[in-house]
Amino acid sequence: MKPLELEVFSCRSDNYGVLVHDPESGLTASIDAPEEQPILDAAARRGWKLTHIFTTHHHGDHVEANLALKEKFGLEIIGPVNEAVAIPGLDRTMADGDEFQFGEHVVRVIETPGHTAGHICFHFPDDKILFAADTLFALGCGRLFERPAADMWASLQKLAVLPDETAIYFGHEYTLSNARFALSIDTENERLKARVKEIEAQRAEGKFTIPTMMGLEKETNPFLRAADPSIRRNLLMEGNSNEEVFAEIRKRKDNF
Ligand code: ZN
Ligand code: FE
Repeated sequence: MKPLELEVFSCRSDNYGVLVHDPESGLTASIDAPEEQPILDAAARRGWKLTHIFTTHHHGDHVEANLALKEKFGLEIIGPVNEAVAIPGLDRTMADGDEFQFGEHVVRVIETPGHTAGHICFHFPDDKILFAADTLFALGCGRLFERPAADMWASLQKLAVLPDETAIYFGHEYTLSNARFALSIDTENERLKARVKEIEAQRAEGKFTIPTMMGLEKETNPFLRAADPSIRRNLLMEGNSNEEVFAEIRKRKDNF
């Protein structure tokens, strides 16, 4: 099986677009459809014809180009069953644990309620790639618009069991502000400090911080580290549950 080919680009103000191409079958999926023109440009750059959109959730900055692209390519849109009514042009719904084929590649759907009630992530287990959209960012997680913190914590735990070598493609370039927040509560984490220096250098040169890796996130992303003794001490929450610590971290980030 030949490896998947990916094309990553920025669109809107801080969204990432990603095209996933299977060279064997010729299939090409856009992960969400934030903005039509940058997606068309990316496909043209690589000479790929869009066959699918994999929709993660219903927010406008993830579905805006669904209908326009469907009109142009007659492509198939696959998305979350729990947000089916809110997703333009949806053809096929997916629930937690569902699997489907993308050429010879297996795609597994992971429901991660929190940012929205029906948000799904697309996992390619054999390729060790996760499309996490607005659930898990580099050093961050999505805002809680439709579900309480305990649900998001449970969703993040479902992602955290994936192999450390999983490459994570996320929905927004928020990495620098996430990094500054992470340092404010995870003050003794040497790996985090080194990572933040790297991120500052990358962003100063306008470089993308996508993808990240699961192992690195588990060591440095405060939203995955509610059980960490040093973070708990800093928050004066040593006796609280992981859900409560996570909720406090999320609240502090909202006000950071
Ligand atoms: Zn969103
Ligand atoms: Fe978004």
